[in-house]
Amino acid sequence: MKTVVVVGSGASGVHFSLAALEKGWTVTMVDLGRRGHEPVLPDMGFEDLKTQLDDPVSYFLGRNFDSVLLPSSKGEYYGFPPNKKYVFDIPDREQIEVSGFEPLRSYAEGGLAETWTGGSYSLRDSDLTGFPISREDLAPHFAGVANEIGIAGEYDDTSRFFPSDHYLRKPVEIDAHGNYLLKRYKKARRRINKLDRAVIGRSHTAVLSSDHEDRKGCTLSGRCLWGCPVKALYTPSITLSKLKKHERFTYLDGMLANWLEIDNDGKAVALDVTNVVTGGKERIEAQRFVLAGGTLSSSRIFLDTWRLWKGESPRLGGLMDNRQIIMPFVTLAMLGKRCETRNYQYHQLMMVLEGKSEEEMIHCQVTTLKSAQYHAIIQSAPMDLLGAMKLFRLTRTSLGLVNINLHDTPRDDSYVTIKPGNSGEVSKLSVVYVPEENEAEKIRIAKRRVKSVLRRLGCIVPPGMTRLRPMGASVHYAGTLPMSADRRPLAVDKECRSYDIENLFIADGSTFCRLPAKNLTFTLMANARRIGMTAF
Ligand SMILES: Cc1cc2nc3c(=O)[nH]c(=O)nc-3n(C[C@H](O)[C@H](O)[C@H](O)COP(=O)(O)OP(=O)(O)OC[C@H]3O[C@@H](n4cnc5c(N)ncnc54)[C@H](O)[C@@H]3O)c2cc1C
Ligand code: SF4
Repeated sequence: MKTVVVVGSGASGVHFSLAALEKGWTVTMVDLGRRGHEPVLPDMGFEDLKTQLDDPVSYFLGRNFDSVLLPSSKGEYYGFPPNKKYVFDIPDREQIEVSGFEPLRSYAEGGLAETWTGGSYSLRDSDLTGFPISREDLAPHFAGVANEIGIAGEYDDTSRFFPSDHYLRKPVEIDAHGNYLLKRYKKARRRINKLDRAVIGRSHTAVLSSDHEDRKGCTLSGRCLWGCPVKALYTPSITLSKLKKHERFTYLDGMLANWLEIDNDGKAVALDVTNVVTGGKERIEAQRFVLAGGTLSSSRIFLDTWRLWKGESPRLGGLMDNRQIIMPFVTLAMLGKRCETRNYQYHQLMMVLEGKSEEEMIHCQVTTLKSAQYHAIIQSAPMDLLGAMKLFRLTRTSLGLVNINLHDTPRDDSYVTIKPGNSGEVSKLSVVYVPEENEAEKIRIAKRRVKSVLRRLGCIVPPGMTRLRPMGASVHYAGTLPMSADRRPLAVDKECRSYDIENLFIADGSTFCRLPAKNLTFTLMANARRIGMTAF
């Protein structure tokens, strides 16, 4: 029997497991597996919930209003609703110290992508500069994952940046504001293409517009932020449910992975885990082991393994994340128009700005604000409650946000390492991020260029509201155990097999050699599937 133990049920872990099962392996998945509740009143839309729920305030804002973001000139515009807090509930023992980095971590069934916004973009060869693999290696797995989860989008001006080999499904109906922006773009296309070197098109998102397997097409309920009640918006727990039905799959939840036991030949023989219910330690033996705990957690498990094996705690350099800038805007022609909350809530448009080279493109998600997210502009309005409410009603349909993503490259001064604790305990993770020297200039130019495109679309960017998100906020962590064509310590080969421990594979973002300005989760899933299909 071919046995493999996988740590993590996130986007990476579930798509690796699906592929390994297909290749005849017996898969044991180890996960802490925090769980949320089933969606309430699944047939209802956002507005109906406000009137039909017994306690809508607790549901939407939290029992003590703890999901409300109070006005401030700094910090995040986005918050998480009460029913999604479990996704970010970290066990006490998984300690972390940070410098220049504000990470989010998850120990939930399905991981961080239980709260994602579904942006799913494939890579070109130029995005894979520095990787020992090419677009050709990933292409069948982008298509395989797309067929499994459903990626919506259109073939339009943006297609040359995101080759999709015909797997895109019909996108969900666009809202009136998004439709207006798209029409304006078509009118101003020549100038935007030539003068701004930018294109605009429909987002690629993991959301269904029509039924697929046991998932329904989007009903435009406007509830995306609280979790899609009909599973139109893909999350990894959907694939986990499917895995659980497979006879060669075992899901061990309530387990925290500590480290791997390495024998004298440098092979992993067992995963050492802590059962959080009994508090006791257990060993899980297998022929192969796969870390898919997310870049930060997999790095910690790897480093604790190394510490117990070699007696050292090295630095894993090359930590990356996409810098993001949030730019709120107002579309003048939409002022005073009726707001329709029965709409898909997240981004439906994207904007791409060409860089000096293909590697330097800038990718933006454009979100027109509908049911839940208004505070970006309203919260900062310098007026009393009544005035702010009037302003809110007038501007509601005209508000939008551009989320600008920049690329990142690996550098030795951005790294993770561990601070060992007491014997027998896992170490504290230490994360240090230092931005590129010319980052401030890159940010200035990106803001100026996006503003210029928005102006041509008839939008204004209110002064003082554009915010630089802290490093770590994009949750696209990568690069600590990179793929390398040359055999070297603390790296993996092109199939993501460790050069140090021959039966260990790393199936999450740790193995990425650079981070293009594109959401990475679709590539995580495709790469994890590739590992399962080609190395197993
Ligand atoms: C609000 C938000 C919006 C986002 N939007 C997008 C988007 O639009 N597009 C996009 O591409 N990406 C998006 N992301 C990022 C995306 O969620 C992550 O890239 C993705 O979840 C990473 O998947 P992963 O499987 O590698 O790791 P994770 O999601 O971190 O999953 C890790 C898994 O490992 C388990 N685990 C970890 N350590 C241990 C341990 N020691 N023992 C046992 N189990 C362990 C956890 O329980 C979890 O199941 C978003 C993230 C957030 C938070
Ligand atoms: S994707 Fe969003 S809008 Fe569509 S059905 Fe799900 S929650 Fe409702």
